[in-house]
Amino acid sequence: MAKKTESKKTGKKKAAKKAAPKKSASPKKAHSKKKAAAKKSPAKKTPVKKSARKVSMSPREKAILAIMQGLTRQKESLLKDAAETLNTLPGELNFPDMGDQATAETDRNFMLRLRDRERGLLKKIDQAIDRIKSKTYGLCEACGSEIGIKRLQARPVTTLCVDCKMEQEEEERISRGR
Ligand SMILES: [Zn+2]
Repeated sequence: MAKKTESKKTGKKKAAKKAAPKKSASPKKAHSKKKAAAKKSPAKKTPVKKSARKVSMSPREKAILAIMQGLTRQKESLLKDAAETLNTLPGELNFPDMGDQATAETDRNFMLRLRDRERGLLKKIDQAIDRIKSKTYGLCEACGSEIGIKRLQARPVTTLCVDCKMEQEEEERISRGR
């Protein structure tokens, strides 16, 4: 009798032990860390191509180019964060071998699941990038004058110069107040 209960107990214990191997993650981590360090050591010496002689850009154009790079990075990180939040695998966003239509369909489904704020910002970023590409970026939508580069750097998606923005805000304040 006593023996039976004993064996039952040990059986249970064994099962419990089997279910709890949880420390296998750490050696893997250490390994990948080592790999990254090893990758760093061979100094990368890519020859810098100097095409600056061919294209002469004004300081404003250069600044706008930097803004476009910033916008592109912002868009990528927004999409990546959103994909993580929505538990969408990054690969689901854009299959390189998919047809354009299928990709567009996936993107549309993805966009529909974004929150309003993210969607609004992505739209503004896309529009700003489009304006940069079509060389209409940095011109005020209302009065047509150039928007100051400092303002563009601080708020790259803006479509109004400071004066028109202030005017718009004033009008909004008036219409809200009455
Ligand atoms: Zn203006």
